[in-house]
Amino acid sequence: MSGDAQLPITGYQSPFDCDKCADSVGQRLFFYQGGRTAVLAFALLILGGCKGRQPPTPTVQMDVETQLWVRVLLLDDVTACTLRTDSPFSVLDGQADLQTQTPKARFEQAGAAACIQVTNGQITVGGQTFTEGQIVIVPDEPHIFNLDGSDYRGTLKLIVNPDGGSFDTINLVPPEPYLAGVVGAEMPGYWELEALKAQAIAARTYCFYIKRRFGVNRAWDTKRTAAHQVYRGLSAESAQIWQAVNQTKGQVLICTQADGTEEILPAYYSSTCGGHTENSANVFGDSFETLIGVRCPYCQDVAKPKFFFWPMVRFDKAEVTAKLLERYPALKPLGQIADICAAGRTDYGDFARLTNIKLLGSTGKSDFLRAEDFRLALDPSGRRLRSASCQIIGLGDTWAFLCGRGWGHGVGMCQCGAEGMARDGKKAEEILSYYYPASRIINMY
Ligand SMILES: [Zn+2]
Repeated sequence: MSGDAQLPITGYQSPFDCDKCADSVGQRLFFYQGGRTAVLAFALLILGGCKGRQPPTPTVQMDVETQLWVRVLLLDDVTACTLRTDSPFSVLDGQADLQTQTPKARFEQAGAAACIQVTNGQITVGGQTFTEGQIVIVPDEPHIFNLDGSDYRGTLKLIVNPDGGSFDTINLVPPEPYLAGVVGAEMPGYWELEALKAQAIAARTYCFYIKRRFGVNRAWDTKRTAAHQVYRGLSAESAQIWQAVNQTKGQVLICTQADGTEEILPAYYSSTCGGHTENSANVFGDSFETLIGVRCPYCQDVAKPKFFFWPMVRFDKAEVTAKLLERYPALKPLGQIADICAAGRTDYGDFARLTNIKLLGSTGKSDFLRAEDFRLALDPSGRRLRSASCQIIGLGDTWAFLCGRGWGHGVGMCQCGAEGMARDGKKAEEILSYYYPASRIINMY
């Protein structure tokens, strides 16, 4: 796999129900039970004042060995942010042993907002300046902090960038609390428990693959976006999400490599395959025995029809040229893109997906792009041009993409398909062995 941060590797797309009410079981019950419940809830709120708010559960695994902690890049190259904690917190030197050092400072006033800034390479927290280029903010129990309005578990590392004028913020979080913030962001929390468990194992596997493969050479392991897998911290959690994470604690998928060794695999997943998943080699260029395409009759009944069959989208031809050249400057010798042809396609009978695109330029030169790279260069969000399973035709001044199927890259587990299998009574292990054939589950810790 190359350029791991460039592509939406995993599946945060939401072809399910309403995004807003899918986040917590509590919210959904409120919506379903209707008016009388709402009046009762309001009356209880009035009677109980604001004390009805449930305190969050303490963060687990704070004593787990440090090599299992996940380092999530929250904010990148910022000059200021706002920190708030409901508990006192300590500030430690980020380059010294966190377990044995004496804190550089203690902030005892809980609940107050502290502004974090950087000037001339020095970080200021709540008016106090630290000369260390890296500091770690460690909130007391329940080990939760709020950064720019979002709650996260664990600790917060701040690293000054070489220019001395900006910094990165990295959430250091134990594996299971991290996964609770991922599973609830990647799947609706009210889906079948077995689908959520399959998602938890896939997300744990993918996280540790990325951590081992790319994390060793940088200060963080994963981004919090679909570039890796979506992580929303506490706002993604619910009782059912925690159940899925805890019941699969430490479980990851492994497969046999070409040299006979067994390794954690890049457990890619995506929202809706559209009828057939895809070989990883055709999308990311890497090759794993377990990342092969399989027929998927399960996602059609789960995904909304307009996400399973997406409507025709059109892009202005000049805009297509501009976007491709911006993303791939090596295409400049082509001039304007004069024609776009399918140069590679997988055909599974009733389902096909473009794998390679030939671009013909106004200068007479031509070049090729992987279909998935082409798609994301045109529409990085993936919300219009939803998959590479489509046809491309010229229509006046536009390129039209029609007969589209599915949402996402299609490699590995189909999330809607996983839910479909769970509704059919399949267990998480069966779902995973279906979408990752030749893999098996082990307990990593
Ligand atoms: Zn599917």
